[in-house]
Amino acid sequence: MPGTRIELARHFKYRGILSPLCLPIPPSRQVKTLYKKEEFFTSSLRNFYYFFIRSVKYTHLHSLKTFINIHNMYSDTHFHFNLIEENKRVEVLKTFLERKTFFAQDIGTHCDDLQSRQNLMVDSILKANLNNEDIEKLKRTVCFTAGIWPAVEAIKDRNSQVDILEKEILKALHNEDAFLQKITALGECGLDHHWNPSGVDGRCESDFDSTVFFGECELFEMQLALAKKLKLPVICHSRDAASDTLNCLKNMDYDNGVIHCCTYLIDDVKKFLDRGWYIGFTGSITYTKKSKMEDMKQLLQYIPEDRILLETDAPYLAPVPMRGNPNTPIFIEYVYKMIAEMRSTSVEHLSAIVDKNCSSLFGVEA
Ligand SMILES: [Zn+2]
Repeated sequence: MPGTRIELARHFKYRGILSPLCLPIPPSRQVKTLYKKEEFFTSSLRNFYYFFIRSVKYTHLHSLKTFINIHNMYSDTHFHFNLIEENKRVEVLKTFLERKTFFAQDIGTHCDDLQSRQNLMVDSILKANLNNEDIEKLKRTVCFTAGIWPAVEAIKDRNSQVDILEKEILKALHNEDAFLQKITALGECGLDHHWNPSGVDGRCESDFDSTVFFGECELFEMQLALAKKLKLPVICHSRDAASDTLNCLKNMDYDNGVIHCCTYLIDDVKKFLDRGWYIGFTGSITYTKKSKMEDMKQLLQYIPEDRILLETDAPYLAPVPMRGNPNTPIFIEYVYKMIAEMRSTSVEHLSAIVDKNCSSLFGVEA
């Protein structure tokens, strides 16, 4: 029946198979009979079509991983395992396994803390009484950084501390044990004009100390230079110091890393994004003041999908509803939930994009 094929094609076209609006054009007499026969078939196709288009629109095809690997949840790019309560450490590791967490980064703050932190992690994994398969899974998830936080004592002793840091990192990178070799970034390091006597945050103007102020910038620049030399991304701590941080980055011409625990608003954040930085958010966003909530929402919606990272900074900054308790990476789910809501997306989708970003910034395999 040569006519049938043409009518069928026309029928599909007019019944909306090729038109997203699916306009209800009355079928012709010939097509009417055909429509009755094919009604079930075409409406099923149409339903599939709508489902497919909606999937593309609302979840973006690349995040279909979300539906497949629904359990790869809640990467935490910044916590201090050695400062987490001793009786919570095994529970944290077991939670990574239960959630099939893709990436968990233990952050250093002192020039010589790397080895002791790694020993503590290995001991805690042993204490968790896991089978070999789970131990291997955990070792794929957990990784380490090393860096010098800008404390006044470290600033004053910066030359010898950066030497020690370099030796510690090189020693680890040459370790025969693949797990202990996993140094994924340098940091945390940066500028803290809130706690240090910088005179710029209005908290301690009378306190300005030029030796500390310029020494702090130098300590940060020395670590940027080291990161550049070792080709490592940087975990950048920057508090009340956006313009000085940007100056250091420009001076050292190194833009590779994350502005962790971001407390800046959109104008400053844009400058870091433009230079190629990722932006990390902690539980502190869950207690944003009501008057600042709209600004925070605007910022969170502005961050491109390929630049957002999430972290706890445990044991600090426990998110609501756990505020007031010592924080652990277990509580990161509340940070994901709030940010997903503010970005009008699902927690699963947010987890998938953060995992992808961890993979591209820290060079771990997805
Ligand atoms: Zn930290």
